[in-house]
Amino acid sequence: MGDPLLKTEGLVRDYHVGSQVVRALGGVSIEVERGEFVAVMGPSGSGKSTYMNLLGCLDKPTAGRYILDGDDVSSLSRSQLAHIRNRKIGFIFQTFNLLPRTTALENVTLPLMYGEIPRRERRKKAEAVLEDVGLSDRSHHLPTQLSGGEQQRVAIARALVNNPALILADEPTGNLDTRTGIEIMSLLQRFNRQGVTIVLVTHESEIARFAQRILLFRDGRLIGDEIMKDPAEAEKSSDTEAPSP
Ligand code: ADP
Ligand code: MG
Repeated sequence: MGDPLLKTEGLVRDYHVGSQVVRALGGVSIEVERGEFVAVMGPSGSGKSTYMNLLGCLDKPTAGRYILDGDDVSSLSRSQLAHIRNRKIGFIFQTFNLLPRTTALENVTLPLMYGEIPRRERRKKAEAVLEDVGLSDRSHHLPTQLSGGEQQRVAIARALVNNPALILADEPTGNLDTRTGIEIMSLLQRFNRQGVTIVLVTHESEIARFAQRILLFRDGRLIGDEIMKDPAEAEKSSDTEAPSP
């Protein structure tokens, strides 16, 4: 108890392109406590996605340490990383990344396939999470039959279905209009209040204002780390600031 959910120490990631080395991350040290809602900001190319991929155990650092939930994961093999990823982390992407030709319900069931959970129970769990995101009546729709906001809500349900400790979201509102983006933030704030730690990349301050803490990246380094005293509430914003049709 009391230790951070995640901690990176001097995290470095170099990419080799031909004979050149691109240092995408130049030593990033950050701690995130359980229950935090963190926004990562910074210009394009500043290393945000590279950092998120490392946090998500999708990639391995060139140097430095990454402690997730008490485990040093920086030196694990790819298959060990996949295991941790499946148990502890939910992902949300800008482009939703749902499987096409697969219903909302089946998309949400997918992360449960790796476990030993019986089929009926998988289905019950997925239905319950779809209800949590307000999409019970869309469970048999294909992604192409859903709006962008609805697709992202399916993706959020899929990210949550395994009860992850950590949700990582890279520009989750980037393909949505402002109002729908705020609705998505409202959902994320709700799940954060229920205890899920969230780290979210955005370049829009309109979106970052819903987070409790803002990390600022530039040129592969952390140049700002600010706790927000009084983050905006997305639920209220989506009521009051919605443009009239
Ligand atoms: P951001 O998400 O903040 O826009 P990225 O993490 O995607 O930034 O990129 C950081 C830097 O690393 C950029 O200079 C980018 O060109 C470089 N980079 C990212 N991914 C790769 C890759 N797979 N190969 C080579 N260079 C990369
Ligand atoms: Mg990026």
